[in-house]
Amino acid sequence: MGDICYRVELADPGAHTFRVRLTVNSPAPSGQNLNLPAWIPGSYMIRDFAKNIVSIEAFSGSESVALKKLDKQTWRAGIIEGPLTVIYRVYAWDLSVRSAHFDTTHAYFNGTSLFLQVAGQEHACCKVELLEPNEAWSKGWKVATSFEYKGRRIDGFGEYLAKNYADLIDHPVEIGNWESVKFSVNEIPHKMVIYGRHKADYARLGSDLEKICSTHAELFGELPLQRYLFLVMAVGDGYGGLEHCSSTSLLCNRDDLPRIGEGSPSDGYTRFLGLCSHEYFHLWNVKRIRPEYFKERGLEAEVNTELLWVFEGFTSYYDDLTLVRSGCIGPESYLELLAQVITRVQRGAGRQKQSVAESSFDTWTKFYKQDENASNAIVSYYTKGALVALALDLLLRERTSDRCSLDQIMRALWTGFGKTEMGVPERSVEVLVQEISGLELHDFFRNAVYGTDELPIKETLQLVGVDMQWRVAKNAKDLGGHAKDWSEVKSRKDLGLRLINQGEAKVSHVFDGGAAQKAGIAAGDILLALDGLRVTPDNLDALLNRVPGDLDMELVLFRRDELMRFVVHPQSAPKDTCELRFSDTADNQQLARRGSWLRL
Ligand code: ZN
Repeated sequence: MGDICYRVELADPGAHTFRVRLTVNSPAPSGQNLNLPAWIPGSYMIRDFAKNIVSIEAFSGSESVALKKLDKQTWRAGIIEGPLTVIYRVYAWDLSVRSAHFDTTHAYFNGTSLFLQVAGQEHACCKVELLEPNEAWSKGWKVATSFEYKGRRIDGFGEYLAKNYADLIDHPVEIGNWESVKFSVNEIPHKMVIYGRHKADYARLGSDLEKICSTHAELFGELPLQRYLFLVMAVGDGYGGLEHCSSTSLLCNRDDLPRIGEGSPSDGYTRFLGLCSHEYFHLWNVKRIRPEYFKERGLEAEVNTELLWVFEGFTSYYDDLTLVRSGCIGPESYLELLAQVITRVQRGAGRQKQSVAESSFDTWTKFYKQDENASNAIVSYYTKGALVALALDLLLRERTSDRCSLDQIMRALWTGFGKTEMGVPERSVEVLVQEISGLELHDFFRNAVYGTDELPIKETLQLVGVDMQWRVAKNAKDLGGHAKDWSEVKSRKDLGLRLINQGEAKVSHVFDGGAAQKAGIAAGDILLALDGLRVTPDNLDALLNRVPGDLDMELVLFRRDELMRFVVHPQSAPKDTCELRFSDTADNQQLARRGSWLRL
């Protein structure tokens, strides 16, 4: 039973260590290589999980077997006869959705942190045995995971099966005193499990998630699952999600979860539902419809694809769109979210330097390793990718007289690549879109995906009777949104920098072309005084605008420990904040198209 078996012991919560006993029944006789992935699918950064293996030893029967380290993540067990046993400890103290975390309150892990891959046997079936922890610190703990369960116990300790190594590392595990809500979509069991202190309205969560998941399933026409699990860690301050085939791991603020008696969703709850919607959409788009390169290549080094504008961008478009289509939020709330995405893209000068295809390709060293210059240098394939999807969706509707939309494209990607388990080749999505729609869209893709020209967002929103205006931001937190009537915001002076409040006014970003950059102000500077008055994290705007006119000002600051003086010439704040509203003058065709777009 099972040629490869992993026995997981919650060994020492104080030292945050799991102890794993790996048994390989048929190791390679000339020596067996074992390795841990360098990255986890869905999160495109080299994380070198093997660095957390704090001790490792190997045995054949009771005989010790020499282990030679070949590189940062690979060990080789010497020549052996019969089963090989490897015992190792893994340090787990990263409370994120990407790795592992273990203390006296819970244990959480991804297989990429715990399960050594047996080279040459990647396709073999594996068994996972979860040992019951010491009751002294784990009273009432139970297991939540989407693994196929072979045991009969209610608390979930015992044996699980994985079809192969890729399946083995695709089921995160949460063990602790979690609470849960169950619901069904197309008669397939779904569950949300929440760990961490919180007071959520579980009935509300179940009902909203059921609507969102059903809407996604309806779009693709099929729900290719046996079960699905949302694993949530609720913390004081955190946000993130990682997609898997039959589950997702989410990190959220506990205050974002809905309270009992909450009426229309708060901004935080809307954000949480958007995250759930995003990760669930991924069960098709990236987990089953996958870039060809992801299917072909392993997890030992970076895999570059230009296609993340499809896999993350389209997913980011459908995450919020599905909130309105499923009735979880109203159309005006959707415009609020959409306007904020448009503003985010507009505020980065990087959109004029990097295309979304380049952003996808370079995600490993740029998007995932952002520094103080990121907004000047790169564009997000999430936000701009979502706007590419929006513009494409609305253009397809208009140019095909509403016969075709992005929904059909997603279904075609599912039937052509997901269902058939064919990888999606680079540059094939635009070919598919043109085939299905019958339209010539070469110029659109050249500009929107491979170029840096502005997207035709204002023009395409007109096609569904939505008006858009640019205005000056009211304050540092203003991202724009829905407006019943256009906001009148007076022009004001601006330095073109962003501050972070660290008790003092520290410059975090200096924007291309702004007054601060022209004067020589740099990220990391601590602003002290403007024209002789003290700068605090909150008063820079007021100091800049206290006297009218177009004047030079003296800015005194610390760079490292050196006091410096600069002359700055404030500029007019840019009109980089988007407002959207439903047009009063939309015609019947625009209204009908809007109805079909938002499912009103
Ligand atoms: Zn995503």
